[in-house]
Amino acid sequence: TAAARLEHVSKVYGSGDTKVFALDDVSVELEAGRFTAVMGPSGSGKSTLLHCLSGLDSVTAGHVWIGDADLTKLNDNRLTKLRRDRLGFIFQSFNLVPTLTALENITLPMAIAGRRPDPEWLDRVIDTVGLRQRLGHRPAQLSGGQQQRVACARALVARPDLIFADEPTGNLDSRAGAEILRFLRDCVHDLGQTVVMVTHDPAAAGYSDQVLFLADGHIVDRMADPSADKVL
Ligand code: ADP
Ligand code: ADP
Repeated sequence: TAAARLEHVSKVYGSGDTKVFALDDVSVELEAGRFTAVMGPSGSGKSTLLHCLSGLDSVTAGHVWIGDADLTKLNDNRLTKLRRDRLGFIFQSFNLVPTLTALENITLPMAIAGRRPDPEWLDRVIDTVGLRQRLGHRPAQLSGGQQQRVACARALVARPDLIFADEPTGNLDSRAGAEILRFLRDCVHDLGQTVVMVTHDPAAAGYSDQVLFLADGHIVDRMADPSADKVL
């Protein structure tokens, strides 16, 4: 079954001479329980694809499905609720609250929504990110890699249907980056999550189950079971 689907999606910026098709009639299905990497040159539409798929941007034409919900048919309230309850986000910058501990940062989005994490799931998430000894630390007391692991746990804590990661290793050295990628892979294979990651880095894409290659707003290639040397 598809966790998410783009159906003839176009996204146009500007008009007249400055008109740009950031996405040009893109259709793709993302299977549940898989780790998909999206690669392509700068300006090829990677961020736009991620933003349209996650309801951050509206589309110019076509339909965006998260499970059986068509995002293009939802009003703002319902879209906000769906994004909060069913989607998780990881960014290049960790976006942690400096005055809160690691554990408080992890549970903050649920606290804001007036919900409590399922204790058993929270336990599994903390074990998967390997932060049990650091839960009381504030971001400044953690390395970049550890901060990104807190951000990953925060994205996971509501047990989302899909996790979107935009250049998650962009601010990390290669060792810390590899840790995060192994973690995302474990999320998919051990916790059954679905992850979509945009990256410039072929080594990062090598951790995924499939790579979508974008160029000029089109998906121009698709590779199953990539390894870093194949992606290069
Ligand atoms: P990538 O993430 O692959 O670098 P983007 O999705 O950011 O590519 O951009 C795809 C195309 O759409 C580029 O030509 C970019 O300049 C254009 N674009 C993206 N966002 C906007 C925007 N808000 N306004 C105008 N053009 C945009
Ligand atoms: P990244 O690749 O790190 O995601 P981008 O440079 O692609 O960053 O885009 C950063 C933000 O700027 C995005 O929200 C994108 O929509 C917007 N953007 C990108 N290109 C343009 C553009 N030509 N004009 C206006 N906004 C743009």
